[in-house]
Amino acid sequence: MRHIAIIGSGPAGYYTAEACGKAFGEEAQVDIIDRMPVPFGLIRSGVAPDHQSIKAVSKRYEAVALTDMVHFVGNVSVGKDIAIAELLELYDAVVLATGAPGDRPLGIPGDDLPGVVGSAAFVGWYNGHPEFAGLAPNLSGGNVAVIGNGNVALDVARILSKSENEFAGSDIVAHALSSLTGSQVTHVTIVGRRGPHQIAMTPKELGELGHLERAAPHVDAADLPAPESDGKLDPGVRKSVGLLRKFATEASEKAVTIDFDFFAAPVEISGDGKVERLTLERTRLDGEGNATGTGERYDIDVSLVVSCIGYRTPPIEGVPYDTKLGRFANQEGRIKDGLYCVGWARRGPTGTIGTNRPDGYMIAEKIGADIGGGSGKEGRAGLDRLMADRKVDIVTFRDWQKIDLAEVAHARSGAPREKFTSIPEMVSAISGE
Ligand code: NAP
Repeated sequence: MRHIAIIGSGPAGYYTAEACGKAFGEEAQVDIIDRMPVPFGLIRSGVAPDHQSIKAVSKRYEAVALTDMVHFVGNVSVGKDIAIAELLELYDAVVLATGAPGDRPLGIPGDDLPGVVGSAAFVGWYNGHPEFAGLAPNLSGGNVAVIGNGNVALDVARILSKSENEFAGSDIVAHALSSLTGSQVTHVTIVGRRGPHQIAMTPKELGELGHLERAAPHVDAADLPAPESDGKLDPGVRKSVGLLRKFATEASEKAVTIDFDFFAAPVEISGDGKVERLTLERTRLDGEGNATGTGERYDIDVSLVVSCIGYRTPPIEGVPYDTKLGRFANQEGRIKDGLYCVGWARRGPTGTIGTNRPDGYMIAEKIGADIGGGSGKEGRAGLDRLMADRKVDIVTFRDWQKIDLAEVAHARSGAPREKFTSIPEMVSAISGE
């Protein structure tokens, strides 16, 4: 028997479990350990609440979770409740699928002022992640800056701009919906340090900005390169740039403007005890396509800055870490004997949810090659004993199904669920309290 522990129950974790199921059949037991009492990681806490069709992939993970060889072990924090060295004693293979839930720091003066939030926190807030449910972002000012030109910046700008109506059918949590409904924000500036040709926004997601009920995007035509130069772009980027060109020609009377400010690098955030202004420096592209400052600086008045500039994998004690890249140090997923990483924890925060599938299959193949038929380790029985000794209450997949039912039962009309936003609430729902 092969005993495999996967740490993290998001897409990378479940695709790896699925791949282990296909590779080893009944000759493996896979425990998916998560610090949360609820599974699916990024699908629950990262994917935007108004993108329910993307969230539907969790049905596929549920099918994996319900197979005999896979077991969800929730409410167990690796590095706190159990050390990596202990897991390596118990399991033939330990796979870190912990994603990248930490914000990359902006690293400019003033980035620690109240009112500067990273996208992990902001997205966690509207998705009801227990760590960020209490964020209470200030939406009482007219202007918000969203830094970054990727899909997360689009998610954040769109959520800030939608009407209450447009959240029908989403699983946005009640505290965020109520706060957004009372929002005074009329101007969202999406700040990109490079230009339209360098955006990391995909056409489907960018196109959504053009169909909002009370908000419209605006691009300054002067920022757009000559149309002939679009020919050299990848088809996806070309399509996105086409949308930006369209946004540059459309006038809007809508209540909220989503303004693209290209060639603008954030250099400082300032204010009296809280965010009041963001200082930007005009940039131009050098020969390699990198942004270089021109020395021309200007301020925009803002009461909230959401930085959407990428994520980092939090380090775990005892695991080699690449500080520069913000992920575990690894060679194609191998970290050291018996220890692997997969998904964003392996390659950094890029790619779609589906990108994690081949990643999971690759790691299962490596595990198969490395551990053979297993070496008689104890696996889950040993984990249960240690957790009982340490008074850690494991949450099983059956327990999660009770939480799930309770969330669905609490849903407001038309919504798929109302999420519990604290761990005690989740755990209470298991016993029906
Ligand atoms: P991303 O695609 O890597 O975009 C990060 C953006 O931040 C880039 O525009 C980058 O500009 C900018 N940036 C980085 N450091 C900066 C700094 N110091 N100052 C100013 N700007 C800075 O990351 P993401 O938006 O977090 O998305 C992560 C992954 O999730 C992506 O693969 C994304 O496609 C995916 N995702 C997909 C969806 C969806 O499909 N619906 C939704 C959300 C996220 P440079 O290019 O100049 O570095």
